[in-house]
Amino acid sequence: MGHLPAGRQLGLFPGSQHEPTSQVTSPILHAEPAEPPSPDPADQQGATGKPELLNALADSARDCRACSLRAGCRSVVFGEGDPCARLVLVGEGPGQVEDELARPFVGPAGQLLDRILAAADFRRQDVFITNVVMCRPPGNRVPLPGEVAACRPWLDRKLAIIRPRIIVCLGALAIQTLIETGLPVGRARGRWFERDDSFVLATYHPAAILRDPGKRRPVWEDFCRVRSRYLESTAR
Ligand code: SF4
Repeated sequence: MGHLPAGRQLGLFPGSQHEPTSQVTSPILHAEPAEPPSPDPADQQGATGKPELLNALADSARDCRACSLRAGCRSVVFGEGDPCARLVLVGEGPGQVEDELARPFVGPAGQLLDRILAAADFRRQDVFITNVVMCRPPGNRVPLPGEVAACRPWLDRKLAIIRPRIIVCLGALAIQTLIETGLPVGRARGRWFERDDSFVLATYHPAAILRDPGKRRPVWEDFCRVRSRYLESTAR
């Protein structure tokens, strides 16, 4: 937990050590995944490495109309970062600023995420950041099960290409989509799960911290866990 003082110095995580651990921020999903909405880019000629495969996937995603969210938004926010990242962060869906700029986590919650990453010694350009759904739900509501199911193949493909060692789920929707623990995020957070070749950890979404500063402390503790496991994985 060597980075805990740094977080305190930055004023990010001054909360109590005894935060409430039971918070439900979105419904648990049990929807069946949709069929992939476009050809697998791994089959496309010339797409051989992770950057090429991810670029091909992003190009395909721009034409996706697999659910009704695309009709009400400006951008398909594919995600951004290092195609070879060992750490991937998965949020819920784009907000207004993200939709306007076609980039993930660039609004107020994204700025807080940047500060959390920096405090935990991660550079944003060294990780990959994306969301469960790539199109902004109207009014920033929680994506519906059918929308999550429609976008799920895109997320699965991104993760299959990047093959990160660690996935951090930011909020309940991400952990229930990837792991389906059946637990609210307040009980799922702080524990490691396994998915394919990745270790998966859930924590609160940065937007939840903005609404409730008491969540700063548990989020910081979770990112300390992530940092420790990240260092372990790079030492091998
Ligand atoms: S949210 Fe996902 S599945 Fe729905 S239209 Fe956008 S990219 Fe396609």
